[in-house]
Amino acid sequence: MAKEITRTRSKGGAGRATKSDRVMSTERRTPRVERICCVCRTKKPVGDMIRVARVNGEFKIDKTNGRGAYVCPECVEKCIKTRALNRSFKTQVPQDVYDKLRT
Ligand SMILES: [Zn+2]
Repeated sequence: MAKEITRTRSKGGAGRATKSDRVMSTERRTPRVERICCVCRTKKPVGDMIRVARVNGEFKIDKTNGRGAYVCPECVEKCIKTRALNRSFKTQVPQDVYDKLRT
């Protein structure tokens, strides 16, 4: 296992270190965050989905706080019918929360 790691260290001494390998850090795009819809189990970008969150025991449509479950717009009706949120949160989710999904 005598593999030599050949690294070009500044041999000359006088020369400056090349900074050409720094280009990668500039490549920064908006991260594509995807979540799984709790009804159809399809991965979709979070921006397209409705997030239901439980914050301090209260359920609401909230994009940031608490523990969340995602529903894609196509699944809203199905979610209401099947009570998919109850499964996701492992508890009874009030009807008015389901109603809010429609808005
Ligand atoms: Zn869905």
